[in-house]
Amino acid sequence: MKILVVNCGSSSIKYQLVDMKDESVVAKGLVERIGMEGSVLTHQPTGHDKVVIKTDMPTHTVGIKLVLGAFVNPDYGVIKSMDEIGAVGHRVVHGGEKFSASVLITPDVMHGIEECIDMAPLHNPPNIAGINACKEVMPNVPHVAVFDTAFHQTMPKYSFLYGLPYDAYIKYGLRRYGFHGTSHKFVSQRAAAMLGKPMSELKMITCHLGNGSSVAAVKNGKCMDTSMGFTPLEGLVMGTRSGVIDPAIIPFLMKKAHMTGDEVDSYLNKKSGVLGISGVSSDFRDIEEAYHEGNERAGLALDIFAYKVRKYIGSYAAAMGGVDVIVFTAGLGENSATMREKICENLEFLGVFIDHEKNQVRGKETNLSAQNAKVQVLLIPTNEELMIARDTNEICNPLKK
Ligand code: AMP
Repeated sequence: MKILVVNCGSSSIKYQLVDMKDESVVAKGLVERIGMEGSVLTHQPTGHDKVVIKTDMPTHTVGIKLVLGAFVNPDYGVIKSMDEIGAVGHRVVHGGEKFSASVLITPDVMHGIEECIDMAPLHNPPNIAGINACKEVMPNVPHVAVFDTAFHQTMPKYSFLYGLPYDAYIKYGLRRYGFHGTSHKFVSQRAAAMLGKPMSELKMITCHLGNGSSVAAVKNGKCMDTSMGFTPLEGLVMGTRSGVIDPAIIPFLMKKAHMTGDEVDSYLNKKSGVLGISGVSSDFRDIEEAYHEGNERAGLALDIFAYKVRKYIGSYAAAMGGVDVIVFTAGLGENSATMREKICENLEFLGVFIDHEKNQVRGKETNLSAQNAKVQVLLIPTNEELMIARDTNEICNPLKK
């Protein structure tokens, strides 16, 4: 069966068509600028040249139709007919407490996703638009929702509750949910497979370090803590996000800098993080370059980032009563040998020793640990699309019988 994996933003559709026979990517691509001038589809059929189609795409439905047309195109098509697509897996950002696993999309499920809009006002609406568009164009195949929050639903109450009045949790759902769950799940499964041990015997700390970054404590296969919270703003210092700050800074800024609530929100989400600290860029490549050219604040941004990640690793080792595996993944975690080394400095007391030579690697599954290490440090490229395809396959396969 071939599965279409769809990730919809407000003006974009990222997609992959995956053949579950060998989990290969048959085609992938990106629709951009939906509902704007200059909408464009960049389609990459495996084994063919890239195809760029520029045409008006006022809605997600028009975009999806164009993608499906590209799949069956007589010149560069990858399937003969639409019937070859057996199911569609949709990335949904927020599943609240309702969804602790991927689910077949029914009217009830749609209602549940709509109920989470309050908690993810920028993300869930375009996810819903994408589901509706795909259902309209492919009404006869099963559609599955895969949630960024689901993997973290195993967090115990003492881990996910804030120190707010309990009422805030009951009335408004104010608690920590965590994000990047599909990635943390994928790499923790891969880590167990790489080590040839069952997840149930491992204490893992998975570090998803990219533009957005989060760390998760995965004990015996279950997430028991993660650094992101009610929104993806909590936790580590990120590309442009502040991560954890003293909440009293918010009213202080409102009074002192005469900012509105929305302005503070934008300040913390878009102008802070390593961008705000370095004044250079949100991209770690630019920051590393500036540091090598002698920019002190760039060096400071790198130090702060590494220090925060190290503190989470230490606290999660304490939370789980030890750690067997640390995984690095996502853009920065997969590519920056210097950042991995910097994070692991001073973790020798835990038994973390990475091999400098082995660490000179990018984007390839590798065990980076030195011989004397007690903790296995692994580089594992994440693959959220494949995780969505696998979950979709698992749910839809029994439906065919
Ligand atoms: P992601 O959000 O997972 O796509 O990660 C994107 C981020 O990874 C970029 O903003 C960069 O900061 C970082 N990144 C990617 N490649 C490298 C590299 N070779 N060295 C340092 N950072 C990198």
